[in-house]
Amino acid sequence: MELAFPKFDERERELIGQCLESRWVTQGPMVRRFEELFAARQRVPFSAAASSGTAALHLAVLALGIGPGDEVIVPAYTWVSSAHCVEYAGAKAVLVDIDLSTYNLDPQAAAAAITPRTRAILPVHLFGLPAEMDSIRNLAEKHNLAVIEDAACAVGSEYQGSPLGGLGDVGCFSFHPRKIISTGEGGMVTTRDAGLADRVRSLRNIGAGAPREAAAGQARPYHLSTFDVLGYNLRMSDILAAVGVAQMEKLDNLLAERRGLAQRYDALLGEMDGVAIPAVPADCSMNYQSYVVRVTRGGLATRNHLMDALVERNIASRPGTHAVHRLGYYVQKYHLRPEDCPNAARAEDETISIPLFPGMTSKNQDLVAETIQQALGRVQDKGAA
Ligand SMILES: *Cc1c(COP(=O)(O)O)cnc(C)c1O
Repeated sequence: MELAFPKFDERERELIGQCLESRWVTQGPMVRRFEELFAARQRVPFSAAASSGTAALHLAVLALGIGPGDEVIVPAYTWVSSAHCVEYAGAKAVLVDIDLSTYNLDPQAAAAAITPRTRAILPVHLFGLPAEMDSIRNLAEKHNLAVIEDAACAVGSEYQGSPLGGLGDVGCFSFHPRKIISTGEGGMVTTRDAGLADRVRSLRNIGAGAPREAAAGQARPYHLSTFDVLGYNLRMSDILAAVGVAQMEKLDNLLAERRGLAQRYDALLGEMDGVAIPAVPADCSMNYQSYVVRVTRGGLATRNHLMDALVERNIASRPGTHAVHRLGYYVQKYHLRPEDCPNAARAEDETISIPLFPGMTSKNQDLVAETIQQALGRVQDKGAA
């Protein structure tokens, strides 16, 4: 049984076909169409597609003017790109601990990490669960910091009734195959700030700006772009945007199915002694990008015993994600110790992301739950012996 996979059908093929026939295959009309659908869905005025979620984060950091000498607060339990994007810009990713019940940034830990060099906070809506945005925004306002939402996992989730990606200064989404909708590789930047959107659009297109003559209202088709900033090629292709447009049409159905499956998992696993199921705060709705359980006793050894039992039945599973402060690059550069962010370390050691995919049957779910139950039973027998 696979952990996750995207869902494609005739509609993706149809739109890819239209794109190929049009012969416009780099960033063009299909990217615009995808951006417009996405912005409407996330209820933001501006969106800009990028080549990946990592690229979207990189562009967001650059567009905010963050660079050498600056610090950005990042949760220590997340996909590495949340921290890497800060380091790409020559700034320092300051890793802070998480709340073990939500796996999201602990606002108090964030407050304690603020220094005169802090420029931004980068909350992650991990596994699709919204971060505590009210506390984070208050903190940012008090210290005059930007807020970058890493919403890579979070299309379709809501915080106090609002979609994500428009709650801070800038939001970043991913369309990697592990996410709710996928273009293979792809990302999106969302914002309410027209100036920031313009900077992102220029930076993703090698730093190109409007021709000088345009300012005087005398642009001709042959006038060259200006290049006043050092940009990159982080564009999305129209072929991939065609897939994105088709995926947006499926989003509501995909979300409904995931929520149904998650509810069923909640019922199967919620009463099991020894595992904690995802805790969704009352003011949040979640897309269940990943369904992550945590072993509440026995730590790493028990977690690995459960994962071995899943492997034996050919059921794919993964640890939730990384404790970034334990990864070589960050350990070496900032001399971090596991105990600097103890909850992040525990989350890495004690979590399992279990299969949840379109078309998953009740039988599949029962098998996963039964395997976990039996493995837990064996651990408890051994403990009692
Ligand atoms: C997937 C993910 C990213 C990166 O997205 P890519 O499209 O794979 O580059 C960044 N942050 C988080 C939290 C993610 O889950």
